[in-house]
Amino acid sequence: MKIHFCGAAGTTTGSQHLLEINGKKILLDCGLYQGHRADELRINRDFPLFNPEEIDHVILSHAHIDHSGNIPNLVKRGFKGFIYCTHATRSLCAIMLVDAARIQEHDCAFLTKMHKRAGGEGTVAEVIYTEEDARKSLDSFIALSYERRMYIDDGIALTFYDAGHILGSAQVVLDIDDHEDGKHKRLLFSGDVGRGNNELLRDPVPVEGVDIMLMETTYGGRHHEAPSRDDESFFREVKEALDRGGKIYIPAFAVERTQQLLFLLNHAFEEGMLGKTQVYVDSPMAISATELFRTHSECLNPEVYASLFVSKDPFSFANLHMCRTVTESQYLNDLKKSAIIISASGMCEAGRILHHLKLGIGNAKNTVLFVGFCAANTLGRRIMDGAKEVPILGGHYPVRAHIRTLDSFSGHADHNELLRYFRNTKGRKSHVFLVHGEPDCARAMQDALRTEGVESIHIAAKDEIVTC
Ligand SMILES: [Zn+2]
Repeated sequence: MKIHFCGAAGTTTGSQHLLEINGKKILLDCGLYQGHRADELRINRDFPLFNPEEIDHVILSHAHIDHSGNIPNLVKRGFKGFIYCTHATRSLCAIMLVDAARIQEHDCAFLTKMHKRAGGEGTVAEVIYTEEDARKSLDSFIALSYERRMYIDDGIALTFYDAGHILGSAQVVLDIDDHEDGKHKRLLFSGDVGRGNNELLRDPVPVEGVDIMLMETTYGGRHHEAPSRDDESFFREVKEALDRGGKIYIPAFAVERTQQLLFLLNHAFEEGMLGKTQVYVDSPMAISATELFRTHSECLNPEVYASLFVSKDPFSFANLHMCRTVTESQYLNDLKKSAIIISASGMCEAGRILHHLKLGIGNAKNTVLFVGFCAANTLGRRIMDGAKEVPILGGHYPVRAHIRTLDSFSGHADHNELLRYFRNTKGRKSHVFLVHGEPDCARAMQDALRTEGVESIHIAAKDEIVTC
């Protein structure tokens, strides 16, 4: 069998790994590449490394856009097979892919308007797929439960195991009878791995008998704060910002991070820590995703499950306002009082957060609080890294707000948690490929795994093809 690393190799975005087994082509993940606009368009629109018409199956680890976001374009460009994922991933994709299309269409229209206002002609941006393309692609999905094996082709069986990263996230296990060398091989693709001890989700499930492993390394070489310190740091930042009379903008992934924040804020209000502070979730997708947490309770850890059905809704409280419509969102522009505004996208590449940052990033009373990972070259990363001025929606804005980062909220395992995950994964692990990490993170993980006595650890390079 062959593995062709087509994305998220040497980087953390655009996850796509193409397997060639028994004459079939199976694409693991079909993520959108996020980075410089010009690169984004070229890489995402054209599938430069393979022909979508030749792919037989797609297997999706989880719904994050850097893993699922180019599926509508794949289908639009001729993919005719099925897309396998868990039930919750299918539900999340139903809102996230449509939302991704909507954001593209909206941003394109906005940038064109600004361009014309500045005297330009024609359009300045291009959508990769439309809302209709996104909806159509959902017809190709087949949802499976965790730990239920299914043959997807001759000699190729698929099983999903919980990865504990976001709702519905899965480790992908393929049991392969390789007709070329007559051997049975068990391949594990980690997808993104959760930290374990998550307030909402279950721990990553240990997989046994693994021969070939594709493992993510997003946080290789880095260490998160202990989860108990999360809450303290979060409330300290919130309190400081409220004392200054400013607003707190939290760019948050609509799925998982927003619900984690709501869960935490719920506790804080119950204990009287935030007084009359108003909290706004300004993201239709985050609101819909929160509903899905209630629907897909099969993914929740036992405490949250019990809370949902026995005591009270852990994602709701009196001072919480859900802003679904544009009018509700625009109302926030005129807010005079301090408030907490949670809005997507988490990396500040799109969505309503851009409008909030445009209005608020120049005000020294405000705080922009990052609670998740921002990939290189995204607006979020530039702000995190201390840029003095940033481009937002066609304009340039000075950064005067306090910029804070709490990566301890991360849904990604850090270095030690990835090592624990690796140790928990049993089997010969005779071929280990490190993916989904910037080069220094992948190297740190490679060094650490060498000391574990692993025979073959290889950092996957983009467009590299390996045989195993
Ligand atoms: Zn993810």
